[in-house]
Amino acid sequence: MKKADVVIIGGSAAGIPAAITCRRHYPQKSVMLIRKEEKVQIPCGIPYIFGTVNSPENNLIPDTAVTGNGIELLVDEAEKIDRNQKNVITKSGETVSYDKLILATGSKPLDLPIPGLDKKNVFKVKKETPYLHNLLEEMEDKNDIVILGGGFIGVEFADECKKNRDVNVTIVELLPHCLMLAFEDEFCQEAEQLLKERGIQLITGVKLEEALGDEKVTGVKLSDGREIKADLLLVAVGVKPNIDLAENAGLETDRGGIIVDSSMMTSDENIFACGDCTSKKSFFTQKPSGLKLASIAAMESRIAGANLFGKRRENKGAVGVFSTVVGDKAFGMAGLSEKIAKEHGYDPVIGQAESPNRHPGGMPGMAKMKVKLVFNKKTGEIIGGQVRGGHSVGELVNTISACIQKNMTADDIATFQLGTHPAVTASPIAYQLVNAAEIALTKMRC
Ligand SMILES: Cc1cc2nc3c(=O)[nH]c(=O)nc-3n(C[C@H](O)[C@H](O)[C@H](O)COP(=O)(O)OP(=O)(O)OC[C@H]3O[C@@H](n4cnc5c(N)ncnc54)[C@H](O)[C@@H]3O)c2cc1C
Repeated sequence: MKKADVVIIGGSAAGIPAAITCRRHYPQKSVMLIRKEEKVQIPCGIPYIFGTVNSPENNLIPDTAVTGNGIELLVDEAEKIDRNQKNVITKSGETVSYDKLILATGSKPLDLPIPGLDKKNVFKVKKETPYLHNLLEEMEDKNDIVILGGGFIGVEFADECKKNRDVNVTIVELLPHCLMLAFEDEFCQEAEQLLKERGIQLITGVKLEEALGDEKVTGVKLSDGREIKADLLLVAVGVKPNIDLAENAGLETDRGGIIVDSSMMTSDENIFACGDCTSKKSFFTQKPSGLKLASIAAMESRIAGANLFGKRRENKGAVGVFSTVVGDKAFGMAGLSEKIAKEHGYDPVIGQAESPNRHPGGMPGMAKMKVKLVFNKKTGEIIGGQVRGGHSVGELVNTISACIQKNMTADDIATFQLGTHPAVTASPIAYQLVNAAEIALTKMRC
C-alpha cells in the first residue's frame, strides 16, 4: 500500500496547481499526484499541434512541473475511491491511502446524437497524446476537412489546419455566427471575415444532421438539405464533466459536475474537487455556469489546495476570461457581453475606444486595439469587456478581469494608474481601457 497526506487525481490544468498550492501552503505534508496518461498535453495548446507547433510532442506539460515541486507522481488510473478506508484503488491494483483527496478529473467531449459519428475519420477533440498523433497522421492526406462547431476551439482548429496544408476547411455552426456564445456580434463578424480571408468556408445557422459514407466519412448532410464533401470530420462542440469516480463514490453531483462549496469541498469533508469536473456558479448571478476553462480550473485548484487543512480562500464564482487568435489578430473577453448582461437583467452602459497599441502608431508591431467595456448603470461597476487587436489583447482582458473581480467603477478605471511605453503599449492619452471607461461615464451622467 502507498500512502500520502494529500492525493490528487488528475494531472492537468487543475491537478498540477492544486498539488503545487498544497506544497506551498502545507510544506510538511506529502503530496502524490495520480494521472492516467504517460504524457500530458497542454489542453489549450491542442489546436496548435495541427499547425504552429506541429506535433503532440511539442505540446506537453513537462513532468518536472510535478516532480520538480516535491510531488510524487504515480502514472496509473484511479478506479475506485473507498471513502470509509480513505484510499484510492488503481487499475494496476495499487491501493493509495490519503488524509485529504482532491479530484481534478477534468472533462471529456460531449456525445452528440447525430447519425454517422461512429464512422472512420470522424474525430472528437480529445486530450490523449496517442489519439492526437493518429488525428495528425490522418489529416496528412485529407483534402476536405469539416469542423462541427464554431466556438473558439473549432475556430482555432480551422485556422491551424490551414497553416501547413493546402486543404479545404469548412466550419459548420448552428448559431448565426462563429464565437457567438462568448463575443459580441461585431467581434464575431470581424473574426469571421478573417477566417474567410484565410480561405476557410463558414456555414452558419444550420445544423449538421448526419455524417455520410459507408465505413469512412465522405461528407456531411446539413439541415438546409446541402451535402458537403468531407474526408475528415472533427467534432468540436463542448465537454461534459468526468465524474464517474465521484459518482461511484457517492459524492453529490449535478449536470455541471461534482458539487463543491465555496472552499471547493465536496459533500465529503476529506475530498475536494476543482477544474472541469466541478459544477460552477457565475460570479455575477451565483447561478449555475456552464463555463469550463483552464483559467477557472487553475483558480479553483489554488483555492482547493490552500483549503485542505483549514479554510484560507474562497471561490467567488466564474467570471469567464479567455482569448483566441484568428490569423494575426487576437480577440479576448472577460465577464458579460452586452447581450448576456441584458439577459441577466442588467441595464448595461457601453464605453468603446479604439487606438494603436503603440505610440507613435508607426512603431513596429503596431495593431489597432479596440476595447468595449460593459458597465452596470445602477452601480457604475464594470461587468464585462471585450478586446480585439494584437497579441497584447491577452494581457489586457486579464486586466479587465481584475477590474471586474474588484468591482471597479468606470470612475476607478478612468483614473487608474497605468504604465505606458511607446514600444509596448498605447499612449497614455489614447489608452483604450481608460478612454472606454470615460466614454461610458459620459453616458451614465445623461
Ligand atoms: C482544444 C482545447 C483548447 C482549449 N483552449 C483553452 C484556452 O485557450 N483557454 C482556456 O482557459 N481553456 C481552454 N480549454 C479548456 C481547458 O483545456 C480545460 O478547461 C482544462 O483542461 C481543464 O483542466 P482540468 O485539469 O480540470 O481537466 P483536464 O484537462 O480534462 O484534465 C483531467 C486530468 O485528469 C486525468 N484523469 C481523469 N480521470 C482519471 C482517473 N480516473 N485516474 C487518473 N487520472 C485521471 C486525465 O487523464 C487528465 O490528466 C481548451 C480545451 C480544449 C479541449
